[in-house]
Amino acid sequence: MKSNSDVHIDRHLNSDDLIVIAGAGGFIAGALARYFHNLGFTRIRAIDRKPLPEWYQRVPGVECLSMDLSEKANAIRAVEGAAEVYNLAADMGGMGFIEHFRVECLRSILVNTHLIDAAWRAGAERYFFSSSACAYNTDLQKDPHVRALKESDAYPAMSERGYGWEKLISEMFCQEYWAERGLETHFARFHNIYGPNGTWFGGREKAPAAICRKMLEAIDSRRHSIEIWGDGTQTRSFCFIDDCVLGIDQIMHSKDLIATPINLGSSELISIDNLVGMVEDIAGVKLTRTYDLNAPKGVAGRNSDNTFIRQVLDWEPRTTLRSGMERTYAWIAGQFADRKAGKRVVRD
Ligand code: NAD
Repeated sequence: MKSNSDVHIDRHLNSDDLIVIAGAGGFIAGALARYFHNLGFTRIRAIDRKPLPEWYQRVPGVECLSMDLSEKANAIRAVEGAAEVYNLAADMGGMGFIEHFRVECLRSILVNTHLIDAAWRAGAERYFFSSSACAYNTDLQKDPHVRALKESDAYPAMSERGYGWEKLISEMFCQEYWAERGLETHFARFHNIYGPNGTWFGGREKAPAAICRKMLEAIDSRRHSIEIWGDGTQTRSFCFIDDCVLGIDQIMHSKDLIATPINLGSSELISIDNLVGMVEDIAGVKLTRTYDLNAPKGVAGRNSDNTFIRQVLDWEPRTTLRSGMERTYAWIAGQFADRKAGKRVVRD
């Protein structure tokens, strides 16, 4: 099996074992399908409820199915013959989406509930669930100068309304399917993943993509102003997509991480104001800033404590925020130009 990094991963998989990836019409799972395909795996089944033409990327040679995995029969069909199942399917988006559509976010519980049960019944060897930093106790995130969140900070529980609670309960499903039924499960709490081939307009986009798009709109319209959600002091860390997919691979194949929560994110904290400054610098412009204090802004501060993942996997993001944002901005600039020219682009 090829390796596209210098990290050695013992996967105990043959190149023709079936890998099932749910949510693969979206951002992270689309990148994961490409990653495994590039490693030389020949049987990858990618699934998403979106119609195929709306997938963010489709990898030649990967079986692509359009199915709603919140339906039990579809979940059973999806995992037939699977050695590994990766569940990254969820109804989600940036703060604008998850603060307004809490019911939709909660309903993603159906996907994990059916998929994990179907994977267990089908005799899959391993199951991965994509959790989130939104599972953490929000009471610990009221100050922009936050203490980074470590894995034990999810309990006592006070997750983000809707979306965060769904993640926490789905994590619990993973823990109990392992404890009670012996299905090897893994899950990671992602912290703000960004990069090319993600949504960048339409309402589900997250801060890095939204800032790039607003920058391009300001330049294009010659308005030279940008509206920022919140007062700009809120802090976050952002992890580049290539680092994320490598992390998923390492976490899924670590015997030390069965049914064990782990952060997957960057510990490089930045305020939204400074992120805007970085993108201005990349774009070579300086904009007037206005602040919408009533817009959804999420918790005041959130950062990933990477002590555990460094210790178990020796994993650290390799891409600096500056170079990841340069690549993201360049990709969104291309999409922006394509949209203007009337071509089909990635959206929500
Ligand atoms: P995304 O929206 O780009 O991809 C999710 C995909 O799941 C979408 O294409 C959607 O159509 C699909 N989906 C939703 N419901 C489905 C269903 N019932 N059946 C089949 N497909 C369905 O999101 P993403 O950024 O790629 O996120 C992937 C996973 O990682 C999600 O579970 C998300 O909650 C988690 N996560 C992402 C981030 C991030 O920063 N991007 C942070 C924390 C957690």
